[in-house]
Amino acid sequence: MRPVQYNNKVKFDGIPEGYMGEGFMATSFDKVIGLARKNSIWPLPFATSCCGIEFMATMASHYDLARFGSERVGFSPRQCDLLMVMGTIAKKMGPVLRQVYLQMAEPRWVLSVGACASSGGIFDTYSVLQGIDQVIPVDVYVPGCPPRPEAILDGFMKIQELVHQEGLRRRHSEQYKSLLAGYGIQ
Ligand code: SF4
Repeated sequence: MRPVQYNNKVKFDGIPEGYMGEGFMATSFDKVIGLARKNSIWPLPFATSCCGIEFMATMASHYDLARFGSERVGFSPRQCDLLMVMGTIAKKMGPVLRQVYLQMAEPRWVLSVGACASSGGIFDTYSVLQGIDQVIPVDVYVPGCPPRPEAILDGFMKIQELVHQEGLRRRHSEQYKSLLAGYGIQ
């Protein structure tokens, strides 16, 4: 990526590699799609306990997730492309979480926030799911109990990197299909 400047005043970062001339620019389709997707992620917060409070701080004005193009938090899985799971997930909630994931359209990504969502955390008990990756695939894990908003933002930026670099055909690849098949998802 290289910064592009106009009149030495307005500067754009993240312009994809390509060929630029007077008044036009040519680049490849997947780079443009990656750039657009990366900066317009719609998160779906699935918050069940204390880590959800950290998410509220992440959305509030001081940390302001909106700076990353994600101010539009949605509560319908059909509109969102990033599932953010925050909090302790009881085994009874596992099928609900999976249902929400299945209702999201491709391409979709999953961010597991905090020790509980990632591994069960301190709740090594019969009733708590020992990591949401037992029921859905996870793209990025954020450690901590609870993770600070900076850590959540860092995880979010890791998701942005994945989104930006993902090829348009990845979701049709055999590798991706076999990953979903491992979770019993067609
Ligand atoms: S990881 Fe810690 S802060 Fe987050 S939900 Fe679990 S117990 Fe609460």
